[in-house]
Amino acid sequence: MSRRSILDEKVSVLRGISDKRAALFSKLGIHSCEDLLWHLPRTYEDWTDLSFVSELEDGETACFKAHVISMPHVNRRGRVSQTVVKLQDDTGALSAVWFNQPWIAKQMSRGDSLVFRGRIKRAGRYFSVQNPQFYREGEAVPPLLPIYPLTEGLTQNILRDGVAQILDSDSLHFTEFLPAGSRRDHQLASQSYAFSEIHFPSSVHAAEVGRRRLAFEELFLIMAGLRSLKAERTYLERQALVLSEQDEADLQKMEESFGFQLTVSQQETLAAIKRDFERTCPAYRLIQGDVGSGKTAVAILAMGYVALAGKQSVLMAPTSILAQQHYENISKFFEKFGIKTGLLVGGMPAAQKRETLTAIESGEIQCLIGTHALLSDDVKYKQLALCITDEQHRFGVEQRLNLSSKEEAYPHVLVMSATPIPRSLAMILYGDLDISEMRDMPAGRQPVLTYTARNKDRPRVEQMIENEIEKGHITYIVCPAIKSSEMIKMESAEEVFKRLKKGSFSHRRLALLHGRLPAKEKDQIMQALSAGEIDILVSTSVIEVGIDQKKATILIVENAERFGLAQLHQMRGRVGRSHYQSYCILMSETDDVLARKRLTALCRHNDGFKIAEEDLRLRGPGDFFGVRQSGLPDFRASDLSRDRDLLVEAAGAAEKILAQDPLLQEAENRLILPEFKRRYAERLKNPAL
Ligand code: ADP
Ligand code: MG
Repeated sequence: MSRRSILDEKVSVLRGISDKRAALFSKLGIHSCEDLLWHLPRTYEDWTDLSFVSELEDGETACFKAHVISMPHVNRRGRVSQTVVKLQDDTGALSAVWFNQPWIAKQMSRGDSLVFRGRIKRAGRYFSVQNPQFYREGEAVPPLLPIYPLTEGLTQNILRDGVAQILDSDSLHFTEFLPAGSRRDHQLASQSYAFSEIHFPSSVHAAEVGRRRLAFEELFLIMAGLRSLKAERTYLERQALVLSEQDEADLQKMEESFGFQLTVSQQETLAAIKRDFERTCPAYRLIQGDVGSGKTAVAILAMGYVALAGKQSVLMAPTSILAQQHYENISKFFEKFGIKTGLLVGGMPAAQKRETLTAIESGEIQCLIGTHALLSDDVKYKQLALCITDEQHRFGVEQRLNLSSKEEAYPHVLVMSATPIPRSLAMILYGDLDISEMRDMPAGRQPVLTYTARNKDRPRVEQMIENEIEKGHITYIVCPAIKSSEMIKMESAEEVFKRLKKGSFSHRRLALLHGRLPAKEKDQIMQALSAGEIDILVSTSVIEVGIDQKKATILIVENAERFGLAQLHQMRGRVGRSHYQSYCILMSETDDVLARKRLTALCRHNDGFKIAEEDLRLRGPGDFFGVRQSGLPDFRASDLSRDRDLLVEAAGAAEKILAQDPLLQEAENRLILPEFKRRYAERLKNPAL
């Protein structure tokens, strides 16, 4: 039995934390003492990290060594006193100012050499440091003190005091869940060392040793946990899907009826899926491929296989528009082979819905397409054997498990994603999935030519649009915001629409599409678009998914620096969907070096995998597109952009253990899975659904 530990207590048990204050802690996501211990310092007050006076910048909190070159002087104005002294080092000079601390004047004199720490303020050419703390050379250097992320009403001292109480508590017990072997192999500190040193380091090095332990355990837990869940599935029984020779021949016919030759990637992915189907354990496979790489064709053939084997499959799309689109294409395709397709989306007329549900339960519908309405409890399948989610990097682990466990014979799961994720992230996000990467594109596709442009180039850009419209082609213009606001000073979709309608394109057919329009209006615009009745569509990023119009040849992105790289790449996939040459123009006035680098990366690369890697490298995983929504847990100690080596180490450690003990049942591994579930099961659930 584990002893009661202070870690399980609410923070309000700590001295100085009233219930009222505890409410402030909860704003930071801190409820228990354990949460507080995991609230790691963002940086440290470090008196050993000295700057030269000439390097000091307005607004920063800095530490520097300087000589006192004037007698301290106290100015009094009413009740306020100001103590001023001039400081200098070899590179420059500034003054130090203290408010209402007149006694400071007695603590220093001209010629003293002191180390100061405080906030730098600039007024014209003059710099000062405000209310600095200081110590004399030769005195003990102040310790490294943690600086925490705060919220209004809390101070660094309140947090430091709370953390110190936990670390000093007699009832602080950690349960070591990392196997001794892994700790030794990877030279990891104990939890108690790690937490004391990360909060109150005895040196910068010790803090890093502590952080490394905690980062390792996060990465290790997730990988070992996810992979062990995957191993668990091999013990779940389901029937293999067997095809007769006749069925095989029919499948072949289906493949031929596409009217194109499958790409090598499509063939390989399909072969992997067939192997999955022939096994008796449920498969979880992620298919990663750029927009247009032909994932739908693969999904169709997989569903065709299942139908031929006499079982049911479902295809889940993120929006009703996409579900509808899939339904129209797929039902037409399957009709020729006598396979019945059904559609189930939210907001269907009740009678129609009931009819569909009955047909699903009786097995009449062999292939069902819909939105997450498919996940609801009133959908009862006769023999569900395959579940495909499209564009769904958004389904968390739990979600996938839920869907599967609804059935007695666990279905195979395919997850199709058009936002390729670098391997390092995929390992974390999808550690329990097998991965198929579709890297080659159908032949005859021309890469979209991508350029950056500035406001001064607008006449040329407009000429380009005009030329394309003349050819009967369509232009998309995407803006970051629907409406303008005082906070965000940039042209909104509404404003762009008005500007074009009154100006250069008054003679053209313009439409404005965004997420806040009533569904009916949206549908009308989508219909007009597919009928070719719109020349220019002004929109927000809703255009990212779901629009499939082959005549669209120009995509203009306004304030392109506002979008993530991978998101821009996704939007770009809306043009270049035919043999016509297409263009993407990234409008941006920014001079920010990093932002410019990102835009240039997009002009250079057309491969989503390369772009994803670039995006991760430039921005770090915290900001990495959609990853938040995708169920990636918040990492406290690790940072995937700089901890790649540690990730590989942790993956290796997990692999080594799982090879011996796939279900993590041996004595020394027994605590891993419960700890994984305790920490991440909740977070891996998708909040976006
Ligand atoms: P994804 O879902 O991966 O974005 P789709 O499956 O929608 O891509 O395919 C995009 C387009 O390419 C569709 O019009 C499809 O018919 C076509 N397509 C798919 N595979 C091939 C292929 N092997 N050769 C030629 N065209 C293909
Ligand atoms: Mg698709």
